[in-house]
Amino acid sequence: MTYRAPVEEFKFVFNALVDMPGVLKLPAFLGIESDLVDAVLEENAKFTSEVVAPTNRISDRQHPVCHAGQVSMPLALHETFKKFAEGGWQGLRHPAQWGGQGLPKLLATATTENLYAANVAFSLCPMLTDGVIEALLLTGSDAQKQTYIEPLVSARWTGTMNLTESQSGSDLSLVTTRAVPQSDGTYRLFGQKIYITFGEHDLAENIIHLVLARTAGAPPGVKGLSLFIVPKYLVNADGSLGARNDVWCASLEHKLGIHGSPTAVLLFGDGKGEVGEGAIGTLVGQENRGLEYMFIMMNAARFAVGVQGIGVSEAATQKAMTYARDRVQSRAVEGSTGPVAIIRHPDVRRMLMTMRALTEAARAIACLAAVADDLSIDHPDAELRRTNQSLYDYLVPVVKGFSTECSLEVSSLGVQVHGGMGFVEETGAAQFYRDARILTIYEGTTAIQANDLVGRKTLRNGGSVAQQLIQSMTQTVKALRDCAGQAEVEQRAGLLLIAEKLSQAITHYSSAVSYVLDHTQDNIRAVYVGSVPYLMLTGYVLGGWMMARAALVCVQLQADSSRAGVSPDFLKNKFATAVFYAGVILPRAQGLADAIHQGVALTQVIEHATLMNA
Ligand SMILES: Cc1cc2nc3c(=O)[nH]c(=O)nc-3n(C[C@H](O)[C@H](O)[C@H](O)COP(=O)(O)OP(=O)(O)OC[C@H]3O[C@@H](n4cnc5c(N)ncnc54)[C@H](O)[C@@H]3O)c2cc1C
Repeated sequence: MTYRAPVEEFKFVFNALVDMPGVLKLPAFLGIESDLVDAVLEENAKFTSEVVAPTNRISDRQHPVCHAGQVSMPLALHETFKKFAEGGWQGLRHPAQWGGQGLPKLLATATTENLYAANVAFSLCPMLTDGVIEALLLTGSDAQKQTYIEPLVSARWTGTMNLTESQSGSDLSLVTTRAVPQSDGTYRLFGQKIYITFGEHDLAENIIHLVLARTAGAPPGVKGLSLFIVPKYLVNADGSLGARNDVWCASLEHKLGIHGSPTAVLLFGDGKGEVGEGAIGTLVGQENRGLEYMFIMMNAARFAVGVQGIGVSEAATQKAMTYARDRVQSRAVEGSTGPVAIIRHPDVRRMLMTMRALTEAARAIACLAAVADDLSIDHPDAELRRTNQSLYDYLVPVVKGFSTECSLEVSSLGVQVHGGMGFVEETGAAQFYRDARILTIYEGTTAIQANDLVGRKTLRNGGSVAQQLIQSMTQTVKALRDCAGQAEVEQRAGLLLIAEKLSQAITHYSSAVSYVLDHTQDNIRAVYVGSVPYLMLTGYVLGGWMMARAALVCVQLQADSSRAGVSPDFLKNKFATAVFYAGVILPRAQGLADAIHQGVALTQVIEHATLMNA
């Protein structure tokens, strides 16, 4: 088997680290028992490991093909998509009213991570469909919901997100696609979008494009963007498919990775459809509020791409662990009768533990965010809804930026563990590295996430979310020290090490938050030169906090591991990983904090260096 879904890990995170039992008490999930959660985890593990994962290598080699505006997908992905739709996986977290199963985002975080791990290129199609469903549920008219949601939830149709144009990437104020109002209330769209993921394919009956475009006379910049639904096939009043709309795939990109995902150049209004010239679209909500609506989809997609990073990291780690046990090379440093499996070498262990520690920490942060989202939507207490919304908003750029940056390190280490076999394509280690490379770029580059974390998520609320996190993390340090006082000798040293390193990392994080708040007025460039280090520092510290909490739980549960649904071995490994994270990964916080504090000095130098002249 190429990939095994980490079911035991999810059970531990759900029950011992974030509060799945609390989530199941929310009004929206009443009647959902933890047995059902476990059953979904098991079934999803089977589906992703046995059905999806075997297509990963195939779809890396057999690429989608564009011919006369139509894209044919490899046969293997047709079969997988059919089983995905039949299994009801698209509807897992969408409302029962529209044919979904209405399960928590927390559970969907696990099932989607498994899908991403099994085949990240394939998974992009359901991921974007999720985003379209979410956006339409919140902003679509009743008629739009009636027309589009059920077929999307059942995966008869799929969705896309159309933002990027050749002159408009990170900066959406430059979008020029035009939308011309028609007398019947619809619009005709004209323009070219690039890099549209699953913008054209033959896996589903219809494709629903959400498109950012500009009406005549709209204000310049992002305030003049409107959002439109443009279906590949128009939909008749009875729900059947009508005329072929005027949106066409001009070509597919040749990419470094995610070869199974067709990345399309789409032409709107090329005049080739059955509807005359101009792609027919309907406005979502009000004109000029398109970016606001699109942000719903972008936020969903940003979180999801972060989880993609975790999935790829998990898959790369599993592959490296297997290889390291099999490959025999060199004697042990302390001496051995002959060459040993490379997993015995201290440096290989360092690499494997780094991979595991970063993956588990990033996963725990994502699950923390998912719970905050579930609570922000459904908790009966309005104040709790608000604080959880702020926490979720703060965590989304961290989940996206940190998890995907980690996936680059993890998948690169995966290649290194394989030695020369990692660099050749046969083993598949290189594919994870190639596939991961896009994750820090699409759905907003790491810099764009970092700008969001600094600007909207830290400065705008005066650092209040960061301060609350600092308080909670400080309580964990105290709990670690208290627990160490009563723990057995072998765990005491680990707990004290985690307490010391976490405490130091919190101090560095706190000083970075203060730096960001203090220097915004007098030298904003000095703050933003450290925005990515600030994002990474936040990720490392939050990850360290979650791993520290995991260590505490391991000690508390050692007498009865079945309470968390895990084995004693699992707890032992988790504790070791938490200690490793504290000792080896958390000290990175200091270097990042130092870099952030150099902001003023650095900008002075950089601003005067002629090599930086624009
Ligand atoms: C495979 C693939 C799939 C994609 N799928 C989709 C899709 O489905 N729908 C869609 O609409 N788009 C999609 N995209 C587009 C993707 O979201 C953009 O490529 C991405 O947002 C970056 O835009 P850009 O490529 O124009 O880079 P640029 O915006 O030109 O950025 C270049 C560099 O400048 C930096 N930069 C830019 N602005 C700032 C700033 N303000 N502060 C700091 N640094 C900055 C960036 O971080 C980056 O390092 C896809 C792209 C690819 C490659």
